[in-house]
Amino acid sequence: VPTKCRRFVAIDAVDAGAGLIMAGGEFELIRRHFTRAAPVGVLGVGDDCALLPTAAGAMAISTDILLEGRHFFPDVDPTSLGHKALAVNLSDLAAMGAEPSAFVLGLALPVIDDPWLVAFARGMYALADRHACPLIGGDTTRSQNGIVITITIFGKVLPAQALYRSGAKVGDDIWVSGCLGDADVALRLLLGEAQPWVDDAQRAALLAATRTALEWPEPRVALGLALRGLASSAIDISDGLLQDLGHILQASACGARLFADALPVSAGVAALPVELRRLATLAGGDVYELCFTAPADRRDDILAAAARASTPVTRVGVIEAEAGLRMMDAAGNALPPLSYGGFDHFA
Ligand code: ADP
Ligand code: MG
Repeated sequence: VPTKCRRFVAIDAVDAGAGLIMAGGEFELIRRHFTRAAPVGVLGVGDDCALLPTAAGAMAISTDILLEGRHFFPDVDPTSLGHKALAVNLSDLAAMGAEPSAFVLGLALPVIDDPWLVAFARGMYALADRHACPLIGGDTTRSQNGIVITITIFGKVLPAQALYRSGAKVGDDIWVSGCLGDADVALRLLLGEAQPWVDDAQRAALLAATRTALEWPEPRVALGLALRGLASSAIDISDGLLQDLGHILQASACGARLFADALPVSAGVAALPVELRRLATLAGGDVYELCFTAPADRRDDILAAAARASTPVTRVGVIEAEAGLRMMDAAGNALPPLSYGGFDHFA
């Protein structure tokens, strides 16, 4: 099934517990086999970027793989794919508050399709140019099966100003940028999932309204930079708000209360049946918005920083001492814990 496996399993195979096994599986795998104490002064595995000390501060480094048939449809517009391959990496820099420096590109291709490559490069370079982030190397090979795109990105940040997953404090507000859920809705429509609540005309309109979020995510680099020294923690939402906020809670050893009906949504997502809206906003991945925390007495500063970055932000919850995540509806009633989202880690 062409989609991010963590998210899709979390949505589809919930009752069998497969979402949890799969989510736990990935992070448990990394923990068991690829996590060792980093050298002194180096931030190693576990945040959105690694930080390697330099004379001027630190280099932030992150890498992401995009696999045909898993992260993108074989017939996706190659211009949007070039954009997205870089965008998901810029998003990890944004989540650290790092300024883009450069990237390298690994490409495995089954065939040389020149028009496809022209379009892919156009999309990638257009975003690279906007962020003054040049392509400085890479590797190219032939693949047996499908396209694999691996980008490794480098950025600059002062470690004292960087945004970490581990800095959330009890009483902090929880914020998210932009809107949640569109990419998930577009993906469901593109996958042809049965949607008894829409007719064909509504389906086409909803896909048109949500598809840009899936195929042209806008990395929140300016917001990440504006939040330095202000936000107490941050992460980018690649695997769904519940799972990614869960990483902040785990790294910061705290819990949270989330206002499920305060989550920012587009008009298309707002019109969905409430259960589907909650599923899309809470568990839907591929979002590339920032989720961050900040002290409640910095609300005005956060709004000013967001305005400087021309990025809307919404307050969606509060950090609490009690472990786990409690969700409230608009009336302040507790919602039952969701059985999806890879969350029992914190229960
Ligand atoms: P993100 O969604 O921000 O890209 P991931 O969830 O992919 O982060 O990864 C979580 C953490 O585990 C990151 O710090 C990442 O660098 C690290 N990581 C992932 N895969 C590996 C691996 N194979 N070896 C070492 N570290 C890894
Ligand atoms: Mg990330």
